[in-house]
Amino acid sequence: MRIDIITIFPDFFKHIFNYSILKRAQEEEKITLAIHNIRDYSTNKQKSIDDYQFGGGAGMVIKIEPIDILISKLKKDREYDEIIYLSPDGETLNQNICNHLSMHENIILLCGHYKGIDERIKELHITKEISIGDYVLTGGEMPAAILTDAITRLIPGVINDETSALTDSFQDNLLAPPIYTRPANYKGLTVPDILLSGNEKLISQWREEQSFKKTQKRRPDLLK
Ligand code: SAM
Repeated sequence: MRIDIITIFPDFFKHIFNYSILKRAQEEEKITLAIHNIRDYSTNKQKSIDDYQFGGGAGMVIKIEPIDILISKLKKDREYDEIIYLSPDGETLNQNICNHLSMHENIILLCGHYKGIDERIKELHITKEISIGDYVLTGGEMPAAILTDAITRLIPGVINDETSALTDSFQDNLLAPPIYTRPANYKGLTVPDILLSGNEKLISQWREEQSFKKTQKRRPDLLK
């Protein structure tokens, strides 16, 4: 899979993807991450990429032209399954969306900044708008990084133990059961006996029950 990220702050992504599972996924060519600087496609001498809002009001707007030139160029090179604008008024991100996106070949993530982007870029290129929650951040860079991380770990083969991603919260609309590691007794705090029993069937049953109970208590909406 390939993810092209479009931003006015490419340096933000210099280190963020170079750890752990995301680093390995790139090394093993399970995912290609390409970062593009909108400023490189500015057509004016000053290399400016933002301007004042028509109609007045506080906050600068990222211009349509450099984004259009850049996305049009990318589209010439390959077909994109989705061109996503990260936006607080988009569809709220959840695991189902991540599962779906992880099956694509090529996607573009467009990060806004300041007051946002010129609305017309949506008509020209955007196929989906995604929010990471009902709050407003300074820019789309963190949402793009979060989405990239959430998608990458779902790509088949990225996580060594295939079942690991499948037993995480929100898969099957359930929250994950409690987990423990050694020591079995820490300052009198013990691990449920069943997990030490070695009986895989009973352990699996216990985990399912715990998942269900936790979901019922914390997120009953997921069970509907
Ligand atoms: N004027 C916009 C509004 O009121 O909806 C907010 C703009 S915000 C300050 C700047 C950029 O950050 C947005 O263009 C978007 O790319 C990104 N952003 C902020 N909050 C976000 C969120 N919750 N989810 C996804 N992207 C977000």
